[in-house]
Amino acid sequence: MDLGIRGKTAIVCAGSKGLGRGCAEALAEAGVGLVLNARSEGPLTQTAESIRARFNVPVTTVACDITTEAGRDKVLAACEAPDILINNAGGPPPGIWSDWEREDWLKAVEGNMITPIMLIKAVLPGMMERGWGRIVNITSQAVKAPIANLGLSNGARAGLTGYVAGTSRQVASSGVCINNLLPGIHATDRADALDSKVAEAAGISIEEARAQRAASVPAGRYGTAEEFGQTCAFLCSQHAGFIIGQNVLLDGGANSMML
Ligand code: NAP
Repeated sequence: MDLGIRGKTAIVCAGSKGLGRGCAEALAEAGVGLVLNARSEGPLTQTAESIRARFNVPVTTVACDITTEAGRDKVLAACEAPDILINNAGGPPPGIWSDWEREDWLKAVEGNMITPIMLIKAVLPGMMERGWGRIVNITSQAVKAPIANLGLSNGARAGLTGYVAGTSRQVASSGVCINNLLPGIHATDRADALDSKVAEAAGISIEEARAQRAASVPAGRYGTAEEFGQTCAFLCSQHAGFIIGQNVLLDGGANSMML
């Protein structure tokens, strides 16, 4: 399917690995030029080189921490008129309620709520003026079904979800579509880190922990960054212009929802 976005430009935050990279690759496959961000220069440069070679689109790299104001300014300065914004950042660490002090909460809220909100606020005026824009926020299945040991993530992402619910509807008539993509378990470094913690706590191998988790998903497996990215690219396509303020769950059937 032609997504109808060839020649457009996207900012992809936290996009050198995992789900962000999946989104960057799928957009590049659709002919979209990228401003690609992550903190570590090496993997970011490698990912950019691979995307240029495979899809022949321009890729500008901006190595910085997107959860800082300086980082966000750097990324925005590298992309004068983005058509597409993919908001992403690392997720907060797991734990229990008594672990989390004020500083932990501020960090989680800054990273997974304030950062995407500030980027949305920065790109919206230009998108609205040009009459076209697509914004996709990578959040989590925890938005629909909070996960006990991910309290920081549950809280910060719920805040972003509330903001998007209102803002997406306030700007929809300008041709800008804002939606959230909610990953369930996907095979990435983040999943490896969480599985290692589970394996350690249960005294089992990481392979056993993975197998147990995969068995808990109706699809019987982890999702891939590639299929996640293709869904993201569709939400950024011309065809997705009537999809507004939705929370799209990609979880292999793990969460059974009536709505
Ligand atoms: P990942 O494989 O660990 O990749 C994270 C990517 O983000 C890397 O490119 C990393 O590069 C970059 N990054 C992290 N923090 C950053 C920052 N502050 N500024 C700029 N770049 C940053 O993670 P993932 O699995 O793709 O997860 C992406 C998001 O989805 C996370 O918020 C995660 O919590 C959420 N999620 C994932 C799953 C899953 O199963 N994978 C499920 C639910 C929710 P650098 O380290 O070089 O910065």
